[in-house]
Amino acid sequence: MTAALRVAIVGSGPAGLYAAAEVLKRDPCAEVDLFERLPAPGGLVRSGVSPDHAARRAITTTYERLLFASGRFRLRANVEIGSTLSREELAAHFHAVIHASGASSDRRLGIAGESLAGSVAATDFVGWYNGHPDFAQDRFDLSSERAIVVGNGNVALDVARMLLLSPERLQRTDIADHALAALAQSGVREVVILGRRGPAQAAFTAPELLELGELEDVDVIVEANPADLADEARCPNPLRLRLLREYAQRGALGRPKRLVLRFLSSPVEIVGDTRVRGMRVQTNTLVEGAKGVMQARPTGEETLIEAGLVFRAVGYRARALPGLPFDDAAGRIPNAQGRVIDPASGAPIRGQYVAGWLKRGPSGVIGSNKPCSQQTVAALLADAAHNALTLPTCAPGQLDALLASRNVDVVDYHAWKQIDRAERRAGREQGRPRVKLCSVPELLNVAR
Ligand code: NAP
Repeated sequence: MTAALRVAIVGSGPAGLYAAAEVLKRDPCAEVDLFERLPAPGGLVRSGVSPDHAARRAITTTYERLLFASGRFRLRANVEIGSTLSREELAAHFHAVIHASGASSDRRLGIAGESLAGSVAATDFVGWYNGHPDFAQDRFDLSSERAIVVGNGNVALDVARMLLLSPERLQRTDIADHALAALAQSGVREVVILGRRGPAQAAFTAPELLELGELEDVDVIVEANPADLADEARCPNPLRLRLLREYAQRGALGRPKRLVLRFLSSPVEIVGDTRVRGMRVQTNTLVEGAKGVMQARPTGEETLIEAGLVFRAVGYRARALPGLPFDDAAGRIPNAQGRVIDPASGAPIRGQYVAGWLKRGPSGVIGSNKPCSQQTVAALLADAAHNALTLPTCAPGQLDALLASRNVDVVDYHAWKQIDRAERRAGREQGRPRVKLCSVPELLNVAR
């Protein structure tokens, strides 16, 4: 290939940022355009990472700076692929497209009562407290004393912490102002986290579990069989079990709030007439399934937990992208090392790549996206070396003209830095990392 390689990346979360950095590092002539639907880049680093973990957002700043310094990188935020620009238009301007727009919707439980008021997708709640413009207008009735969180992953622990953190602690974070105000008035005093399998099979990680014990005013109660808490042989992370045993031994200390970790419990029905009143829960036992994986089997015993709020934290789910294949069962784009595969022929679709949660499903921490994106970029560059990409039909520069002709308010790197500086400045005045702007008009106003 003689002309400089032009790569479009769709989605500015960690997978998109790592992919951009890798293309620019490995091909000293390549140019990268990073597209983002919202005016503020960052994806789940901005709107998924918990406000009390704000230090983990630093990756965005570090990478943006590095990318911009290359002189071969353009941020094009507030540009939605599929509406502002069609996929065909994108393909006409680039040799290759890396889809890295993640998994923005939630997995469902598939039980009765799931749509009652008070039954909330954790993904929506997380977006709301992080000031994601799609969720900033949501309202949650937090007047109930008890909330149930279904799921045993890190998102379940994030939601529980946010419900139980004191207003003083929340006030020092970059939580959205509307959420800070609502949580300061919250009536929630107890959060019950339900795991359908045992403590050894939980998906949350030890540092997140450790943080629960550091919540002032909160007793951590572990409801599990002592034998399951000792089952280190079946636990990939024995530290997690040790922490759970410590919490179990410590028991209740008479603090005003409670966090209950209840295992071997599956939701059967969310009960209520117009809004959530509680949840019917069945008790499980563990049986060894295929490949030694421990599975939950109902014992027939059921209990009712009264609660006014249920958060469903059983995983994110990617949405199909128009014009691209989608594996509905796995919830991801079929691919081989990041090359998008046409399921009918089994062959790669020329010029189309995928990285991050869209590629491998919603798993892993921020850093897991680095090797994932590196693998995708390696495949793309190998294809470039074999002239196996698409040839852009539009000259460089024509995209600017096309966007201008549509009056698109593109947020470039400088415009984003205006937003970033304004949010940090507002944060400094209040002793917080930043005060987030939570609506598209507000963000665009400051960007201008
Ligand atoms: P996750 O880690 O995949 O956990 C999902 C949980 O939901 C599992 O415990 C699963 O149990 C349970 N579950 C699934 N279907 C269920 C059902 N029908 N009934 C009851 N329980 C059900 O997902 P996540 O918590 O959404 O997190 C997504 C990824 O982001 C993870 O890799 C996570 O580590 C990462 N993350 C990291 C942080 C952090 O580093 N602090 C914060 C947030 C998220 P089974 O195991 O039995 O299927």
